[in-house]
Amino acid sequence: MAGLCAAARARELGAEPVVLEKGSRPGGSMLLSSCVVWRYRTFEDFRAECPRGDEELQRVVFDGFDEALEWLVSFGPEVVWEDTPNPRTTGKRFEPRSLTEVLVRAAGDVRTGQGPGTVPGTWPIVLATGGFAVRYARDHGLLVRCNPWSEGDGLAFARERGAETAGDLDEFYGRAMPAPPARIGEEDYVRLSQLWDGEARVVNEHGEEFFPGPPAWHESDLAQAIARQPGGTAWFIVPAGLRDDPRVVAAREAGGTVVEEDGQLRLHVAAAVTHTQGGIAVDSQARVKGVDGLFAAGADVGGISTGGYSSGLAAALVMGRVAAESAAK
Ligand SMILES: Cc1cc2nc3c(=O)[nH]c(=O)nc-3n(C[C@H](O)[C@H](O)[C@H](O)COP(=O)(O)OP(=O)(O)OC[C@H]3O[C@@H](n4cnc5c(N)ncnc54)[C@H](O)[C@@H]3O)c2cc1C
Repeated sequence: MAGLCAAARARELGAEPVVLEKGSRPGGSMLLSSCVVWRYRTFEDFRAECPRGDEELQRVVFDGFDEALEWLVSFGPEVVWEDTPNPRTTGKRFEPRSLTEVLVRAAGDVRTGQGPGTVPGTWPIVLATGGFAVRYARDHGLLVRCNPWSEGDGLAFARERGAETAGDLDEFYGRAMPAPPARIGEEDYVRLSQLWDGEARVVNEHGEEFFPGPPAWHESDLAQAIARQPGGTAWFIVPAGLRDDPRVVAAREAGGTVVEEDGQLRLHVAAAVTHTQGGIAVDSQARVKGVDGLFAAGADVGGISTGGYSSGLAAALVMGRVAAESAAK
């Protein structure tokens, strides 16, 4: 998302950017997402939800959001929701393939299959590799719930040149998903998410309750708590009367473990990583601190949502545009 937005904006400003995409297709995690691009309705709410985030960067994302969203709409992607159903947020939901298509067209020169070894000698460079969710999941024995290419190449590139990190490198945004042996393809990441809005009692493999109180509305706090349990797994316990609930049916159909006993259903879940929240330290112009000519956007940037959750797509959109504007200067 961030790379395509940066390139589209840079082209608008008269530059001739090239997008080097490591994957076999453009769109990254945006293409797999629910594609709701949103902000909190008030800045105070953003601060309250992400209390340890960088206030200056939060300001940039919040203040730049409305204009950036209008800009996105101007490319003509299919809009699925004109606004969000959550009264605390505002934004739009797009059809992800359509959004990817219009952004690729606007970005112009997008080359797929370009690994970290193909970084050009020509600067400025905007890093937009989507954070390091894949590496984080592998290192911690967790499930991946994002594109398969975001291994932290942007962060490594910046650090090799002396960049600092920002935010908590151990924090991620994620979901509880049916645990193996469930088979989960990319197309199932949204459908198979086990969001129970506090309805499920949660215990670890030893039967111990480890999560105090109901989860936050995004439930990423629960996913992170599960990640810290033995095996990165847990059991969600709900009344047996919910056996035909779409979440239970979907988990069972995917081959997940659902046990019915004593009037209860026990669903085996595992923590899955969507994107990392810590990353490269940038200033309000998306300049990588300490490295001239290097910019970063999207999940490569650390510290925007520390301690909570805000729209990753919104951060990618706004910071991608800011990075392009700074780089064009
Ligand atoms: C199932 C799911 C649902 C989601 N729903 C929402 C939602 O509704 N709203 C929301 O705000 N967010 C949502 N997200 C999160 C959102 O998709 C991400 O926050 C967002 O895509 C991050 O943007 P990005 O540009 O940083 O990363 P991406 O969109 O993932 O793009 C990063 C790109 O960098 C490429 N790359 C990696 N390494 C290299 C390299 N070395 N060289 C070249 N290219 C490289 C990757 O292949 C990828 O194409 C969801 C994510 C998933 C998976």
